[in-house]
Amino acid sequence: MNGANGFLLPISRLEKVQSWGMNREVLAYVYRPSTVEGLREALVDARNAGRSVGLRGGGCSYGDASLNAENVVLDLTRMNRILKWDPVNGIIEIEPGVTLQRLWQYVIGDGWWPPVVSGTMFVTMGGAVGMNYHGKNNYKMGPVGEHVLEFDLLLADGSEITCSREQRADIFYAAIGGFGMLGCFTRIVMKMKRVYSGLLEVDAFATSSFSEIARVFEERMAEDDYLVGWIDCLAGSRHSGRGQVHAARYLHAGEDPNAHQTLQVAYQDLPDTLFGLVPKSIMWRFLKPFSNDPGMRLINWAKYMAAATIGNHKTVRQSHAAFAFLLDYVPNWKLVYLPGGLIQYQTFVPAAHAAACFDEQMAICRRFRVYPWLGVFKRHRTDNFLMTHAVDGYSLALDFPVRPRHATRLQQAVEEMNRVVLESGGRFYFAKDSTLTRNDAVAYLGEETVRKFQVLKQELDPTNLWQTDLSRRLFDTWYSDTAHRPALQETR
Ligand SMILES: Cc1cc2nc3c(=O)[nH]c(=O)nc-3n(C[C@H](O)[C@H](O)[C@H](O)COP(=O)(O)OP(=O)(O)OC[C@H]3O[C@@H](n4cnc5c(N)ncnc54)[C@H](O)[C@@H]3O)c2cc1C
Repeated sequence: MNGANGFLLPISRLEKVQSWGMNREVLAYVYRPSTVEGLREALVDARNAGRSVGLRGGGCSYGDASLNAENVVLDLTRMNRILKWDPVNGIIEIEPGVTLQRLWQYVIGDGWWPPVVSGTMFVTMGGAVGMNYHGKNNYKMGPVGEHVLEFDLLLADGSEITCSREQRADIFYAAIGGFGMLGCFTRIVMKMKRVYSGLLEVDAFATSSFSEIARVFEERMAEDDYLVGWIDCLAGSRHSGRGQVHAARYLHAGEDPNAHQTLQVAYQDLPDTLFGLVPKSIMWRFLKPFSNDPGMRLINWAKYMAAATIGNHKTVRQSHAAFAFLLDYVPNWKLVYLPGGLIQYQTFVPAAHAAACFDEQMAICRRFRVYPWLGVFKRHRTDNFLMTHAVDGYSLALDFPVRPRHATRLQQAVEEMNRVVLESGGRFYFAKDSTLTRNDAVAYLGEETVRKFQVLKQELDPTNLWQTDLSRRLFDTWYSDTAHRPALQETR
């Protein structure tokens, strides 16, 4: 396709861009600017060529949130400068391509830690804020957006605006979690969390059902700083929801006699080898023979048995990085899911309905014979961001292998689970999504919320420049849906 004036994007920019779950790959014109000026030039090129622009950070969204097939993808990873750091007050100013890894490594030596971290450190902070990611402490600290003080947003027309809770608060609460649809963060100011040790005190113990794990979380929420559950999703119906909890708390000042040492990056760093022998980079190959349902059933069973016996109620001190980024311990673990890749299906359900809803999800999986190889359980609280995925309740994240021979069953199972989640008043999360339809998205967000977002989208991006495969899948009618338009104009 060429633009109105015949302008063509250079073919040399065409690259394959993949979803993190490796289940979708597209061709896109990839630009990697290192300055705001470079960003603007890419926007001009896209506009001249009649293409839309999708934003991409670390590409760690499981589905199509940072893909933009046959259009422009702006890869922000070169905009990775730390602009200002105030080690007395823990306030940092960064470019959007700064990774979470760079951020924690930069601040920890001064006794600070990012208040909210995801399960991998390879995300960029622009992408993290774009999705308003949460951590294992969501019930206490809220999503990352609650710790953002201010940001600059590059708009589709090339101008920049500064937003905070005081200045254009409507955009502040919508662009955080706005999945790159309102503009591109070019500068983010955040507050870090004070820590007095590089260690956490971690307690691990087994639980036998969804109702038990939820009860334990309710009991421990007040005292523990982090809570996360692993669920054995291949256990049969009698053991549905069994798993293991990891509960962690920060150490108080004076509790760690070697705080100076444990707060060093070298102390935190994940080791390069397992048992000092096996290079981490090849560890996923040991899992490969188990990359089928019986193999994963065996691994999950063994993990649960170990958790319920030798590992039950073990308390250890663990570094922040080791606790937070467990998945990064085994680089490339996702390759186990090849050739089809994986989807992650994470749903957020109000506390009163969560155990029953997740039990039903497991029953649906068994009925359709599609089994998640990994299940992760977390506690959440509500927040004030427009497109929020959180509820006052629990989430269950399920990793499903994608195989041609069971693709139809997986799709049917997911549709059935969506119905159950919506009936329970639950929500979904764009960072993990690969399967929602427009109707599902509107059902959980609510017509009113979608309309408010649409109003901002049309104000800040009247030509619909910012798009991704996800935005087209879920909100293709933003600029064409006459059913929405009259109501929209009323609120303007
Ligand atoms: C192993 C693993 C573990 C994870 N654990 C968690 C977890 O514990 N909690 C959680 O909440 N999420 C988790 N995630 C999801 C991840 O945190 C989010 O997908 C996050 O958005 C990824 O950041 P990214 O830099 O890779 O962004 P991308 O995936 O590249 O992009 C994410 C979104 O942000 C937009 N975007 C990117 N840069 C900008 C910018 N500069 N300005 C505006 N918008 C932008 C993109 O258009 C896209 O919509 C996990 C992902 C993986 C792979």
